[in-house]
Amino acid sequence: MNLADIADAVKSYHPNADLDIIWGAYIYSAKAHQNQHRRSGAAYISHPLEVAFNLTRLRVDEQTIAAGLLHDTIEDTLLTAEELRRFFGEEIYRLVEGVTKISQIQFSSKEESQAENYRKMILAMSEDIRVVLIKLADRAHNIKTLGSLNSDDQQRIARETLDIFVPIANRLGIGWMKDELEDGAFMYMMPDEHESIRVELASGQNLRESYVEKVRAILENELMASGITGKVVGRSKHLYGIHKKMEQQGIKFDDLYDLTGLRILTTSLKDCYAVLGQVHSLWKPIPGRFKDYIAMPKPNLYQSLHTAVIGPEGERVEVQIRTETMHRVCEEGIAAHWQYKEGKKLKNQSMDQQLTWVRHLLETHKELKNPKEFISSFKVDLFSKEVYVFTPEGRVIPLQRGSTPVDFAYAVHTDIGDHCAAAKVNGKIVSLQYKLKNGDRVEIKTTKTQKPNRHWLSFVKTSKARGKILHFINSVEKEKSLSLGMALLHKSLAEYEVDPSEFLQGKVFDETLRSSGFANLESLVRNIGLGKVSTHQLIDKFLPREKN
Ligand code: MN
Repeated sequence: MNLADIADAVKSYHPNADLDIIWGAYIYSAKAHQNQHRRSGAAYISHPLEVAFNLTRLRVDEQTIAAGLLHDTIEDTLLTAEELRRFFGEEIYRLVEGVTKISQIQFSSKEESQAENYRKMILAMSEDIRVVLIKLADRAHNIKTLGSLNSDDQQRIARETLDIFVPIANRLGIGWMKDELEDGAFMYMMPDEHESIRVELASGQNLRESYVEKVRAILENELMASGITGKVVGRSKHLYGIHKKMEQQGIKFDDLYDLTGLRILTTSLKDCYAVLGQVHSLWKPIPGRFKDYIAMPKPNLYQSLHTAVIGPEGERVEVQIRTETMHRVCEEGIAAHWQYKEGKKLKNQSMDQQLTWVRHLLETHKELKNPKEFISSFKVDLFSKEVYVFTPEGRVIPLQRGSTPVDFAYAVHTDIGDHCAAAKVNGKIVSLQYKLKNGDRVEIKTTKTQKPNRHWLSFVKTSKARGKILHFINSVEKEKSLSLGMALLHKSLAEYEVDPSEFLQGKVFDETLRSSGFANLESLVRNIGLGKVSTHQLIDKFLPREKN
């Protein structure tokens, strides 16, 4: 891979791209990484080049390609963020900084619920979807070069890829990237299964290919005869896809019948259904295997018709039918929605399009069956109302945006909130009013003497913290008015030379209390404490009868 390949790739989809930015970034990156090597021994610059090439497959703009070339400079070289900003401007600087921030997240938890929080955190932290794309392109190269790492790192990175990055690639609809990440991780997570599927696939490869070629020729002739323009291509399932299918359906490799299938790409939506009719009239469809993802797109906007038929020689054949445009959307996902109008991208267009795309995604999803998970995991992107921070142990705690260390403390545990005395964020002491940022590592110092106070109510954000603080304040005030009321009552009774226990346990007192509107003695005494009931009036009421 060299820069000329990358420049050519960019030119092919964005003819007026400013290649100077890309060359400048390359020269800068090569210099910064000079004398550095990958674990494999290769010169370090080979990595940013591969990442940039992956990015061209997502058809991103020249700023993103440049940022891809520079993505490891802040973290791994002497180049400072300030220099980067000065040389390449705000936009590229922000992209590189975003990738650096994500790279510094440590994915330490193994719980599935935490994986979802990590994914949300990445999307929320990125603020610009291009940051996520660079991170994915980075991971797509790293997963292919795991071989030279030690086995602990291999396991960790493979796991992290499956748990965090594959679902993100999938949500963004980038089919090829999802498949590559899955296969790369699969090889290290389950080396035996990976190898056995690889060998089995290879052994039947020629037979399958010649069969697919036969079916392909028949279909192509049929299309031509009916005057439909379309491309018929063979397709093969990726290894991890095969593994998942075997697992989910509990079947052996030999029982899989969709290892290879055919895909027909048409030029219009109408043709999709016409072609489907042709396929079904040529070969008998297998019941229950037809799916119309054109009328009912998948959450990530994937659209296609799926069917399976009994083809020539009684073999089962899977067929997918979709338009060229739909095909681009399911391979490139979000990237398929970028346009370079008149060869030049309009200012801010990418952000606008991102928003349109995400909105479209949310709207489409409303009609789908289980929109909750998908929407809640996507909405954090760009419109985030939440902020994701770490406990010292590496758990991710989601909080409302604008939350403070006090909110964090209550989210972790009521006791920690109630005794929260000081806070450290990323190792530095901050005020309790500090506004938490995505990725902050928060540490709370508690003391036994610390108690919640009214002032906290002026800055806490979460209803949990607010509720707990109010609860504490109310119970303290209740306590105070009770003891004050009791003291006042005792004092007045002493003035009348009445024995308090005799007075309070007297029958008449009991009856009068009940008819006076107070639920019990405690509420009467509390009202004395609050100054709402006068002890003298109270005693006068009872005294003549009691004393006599
Ligand atoms: Mn990297």
